[in-house]
Amino acid sequence: MKTLYTNGNFITMTDQSIDWLLVENKMISDLGKGDRPVSDHIIDLEGKTLMPGFINAHMHPLPAGMEGTTIPLFECDTLEKVTDMIKRHVKTNDETFLLAEGYLSMLIDFDNKAFKIFNDISHDHPIAIKYITGHGMIVNQNVMDRLGLNHYFITGEKMSEANNLFSDQAVDGFIHKVSNEAVSKGFTTLHTLVHGELSDNRDVATWVAEEKDRQALKVQVLNFVQTMDVDLVMNYDLPRIGGCVCLDGTPIEGSAAFTEPYEDGHEAELYIKDSDLFEMVAKAHRNDMQCAFHAVGDKAVHQLIDCYQKVSDIYGKKDLRHRIEHVDLISDEKLRQAAELGLVFSVQPGIGYLYGKGFDKILGKEREKLLNSLRRYKEAGVTLAGGTDSPVTPLDALLGIHAAVHASSDLRKLSIKEALEMFTLGGAYAGHEEDLKGSLEIGKQADLVVLSDDPYEAESIKDISVEMTVVAGELVFKKE
Ligand SMILES: [Zn+2]
Ligand SMILES: [Zn+2]
Repeated sequence: MKTLYTNGNFITMTDQSIDWLLVENKMISDLGKGDRPVSDHIIDLEGKTLMPGFINAHMHPLPAGMEGTTIPLFECDTLEKVTDMIKRHVKTNDETFLLAEGYLSMLIDFDNKAFKIFNDISHDHPIAIKYITGHGMIVNQNVMDRLGLNHYFITGEKMSEANNLFSDQAVDGFIHKVSNEAVSKGFTTLHTLVHGELSDNRDVATWVAEEKDRQALKVQVLNFVQTMDVDLVMNYDLPRIGGCVCLDGTPIEGSAAFTEPYEDGHEAELYIKDSDLFEMVAKAHRNDMQCAFHAVGDKAVHQLIDCYQKVSDIYGKKDLRHRIEHVDLISDEKLRQAAELGLVFSVQPGIGYLYGKGFDKILGKEREKLLNSLRRYKEAGVTLAGGTDSPVTPLDALLGIHAAVHASSDLRKLSIKEALEMFTLGGAYAGHEEDLKGSLEIGKQADLVVLSDDPYEAESIKDISVEMTVVAGELVFKKE
């Protein structure tokens, strides 16, 4: 079938001016100005804007999927409200596993009596309540029996094991809820970071290995397995490794590693030794695998660039496009080096936009100014790929684009074109898919998004609505 899109405003990302576009067999088969070709089906865009679908270079599908299926207890301030809320789900929801989240205040006095009331909700369903901080969990007898636990309050290792029980629920939540949300926000491809977060190996097995069985999935995914184990990833036959494999933490928790101490005088340590990092990156590089690591503070970012440099010097430069996730701070010298090495910075402008206040107090005014200075990165010649780090920020490309355009300082601000590029061509490049995705060109996959307004002219980019999303020629979302 040949579908013709016409009577709209087209943003091709190649500066080509067109007024119609033809889709045939999943691909863009023709486009141009003037005379329209023959087609089986015409979609009248009614003046709306059509552009390449958005690519999200950084998101966590399983925690996002979990968030979609957990029972929100944030508003419950008594044990009774908590148990009522969970009971409703036990009745109305046929899912076997139930994970509830966000219950903190009452749990401080959670005693044996409270446990009995909680446990009596259901003896058949494994039920867990997570603390709002995510670092502790209350489980019912069913979970205790399955895991051989002798207490209902668990942390650390035991909590990972309990999380394991819920990984199918997370995959389900991603496939049936989050992926729908993604296409409703115009995403056509997600770089999905899996492993190392819900469980030991099980989430990779349920996620990566069964990928081809997941026909319900409307959005396309590119898996990044978050591990240092190169052999494991080779078994999955993936040409990339990493994601939020953390070289440091975050500034909010005081765990991002900076070359200068924090304002309160403390210093954060790097998580991985230079030699271990080198060994792993060298192995991946030798096997033609693209690498990605979470590096936030300049100490971690510089450690990673030095490692990529050393590997490239010894084993030769290859077009692998090794990535750095986040890159909150970097020196001018290392920025130049990153550009020369052809590294990709995978950035999430929505994080700073939503949570970026108060960093001057933690890091000092001068250093704060340089944080996430995307304009600097761009001018140095580094390719930027935009992401959302969901569930950290909402799955919303237009919010990320808005955030980059309206960032809080000139060093951070991108032009509208650059911001759009970051979430289209940038993501495609970061996934080695620029021949297939990221712009409207003949021979590329028909990944399209129709927007209510033109981002170049809209009053507020984040308030533009997504009207239609097409993945590989197939209409997967249409606004009611
Ligand atoms: Zn991260
Ligand atoms: Zn992340």
